[in-house]
Amino acid sequence: MLVFMDHGSGLITERLNRAGRLAGRVADLLLPPTCPACGVPTGGPDGVCAACFRRLSFIEAPFCARLGRPLRYDLGAGALSAEAIADPPPFTRQRAAVLYNETAGRIVHGFKYRDRPELGAFMARAMARSGKALLDEADLVVPVPMHRLRLFLRRYNQSALLAKTLAHGSERTYAPLVLKRTRRTRRQVGLDQKARAANVKRAFSVSMKDRPVLAGRRVLLVDDVVTSGATVREATKALLRAGALAVDVLAFALVVPGEEGALYA
Ligand SMILES: [Zn+2]
Repeated sequence: MLVFMDHGSGLITERLNRAGRLAGRVADLLLPPTCPACGVPTGGPDGVCAACFRRLSFIEAPFCARLGRPLRYDLGAGALSAEAIADPPPFTRQRAAVLYNETAGRIVHGFKYRDRPELGAFMARAMARSGKALLDEADLVVPVPMHRLRLFLRRYNQSALLAKTLAHGSERTYAPLVLKRTRRTRRQVGLDQKARAANVKRAFSVSMKDRPVLAGRRVLLVDDVVTSGATVREATKALLRAGALAVDVLAFALVVPGEEGALYA
């Protein structure tokens, strides 16, 4: 129990949060569903209103073939961004549905912290559209795992929920347990790029018994937001070390410094 004593105050806060969420669920039964990004009542269960939908910055071609970030000029299929050339990622392709902006941030936050798992359906649909080629070619869909202590506190891993929805929607194999987060890491918020990379170094692993599941397989790694890319790069390396043939990355939102003035918090 020592481990929990360390985080005792966090646990109490979380209990209060849970009580708050329960109250929220009771309120949900009485009130019409509201947009998670702006709070206006909406008709549908997914929640995102038409105005917020328009404020989302969907990533369309031309984009970098490796990193999936928008390119200013259309240089044809296979064109790479300067960033992908300067620092090639270990994964083959990365795609995201939207650029991270304020509206995307509110949706992600609502999904992650405000106990609105139904937002996952909306996010997964957008991801399935942007990542169709990646999904079609994937043998396994694997979420970026959470450390078990954080999972215990948060109740669900939002990336796992997205990965499961995507896998089932495209009849791919969902493999939530092969990749493990073996080292508990600090939250990446507030860390610069170098600190983020150091924070997640060797944080992931695949146990010997799970290696045959990955051997020679093409993996689609799923996360909700890709910020510096340090996490998905490190997770990709662990999958490749364990024998995966190739790894692609699919996220809902991609932080691109300088675009949309996005800072992920
Ligand atoms: Zn809205």
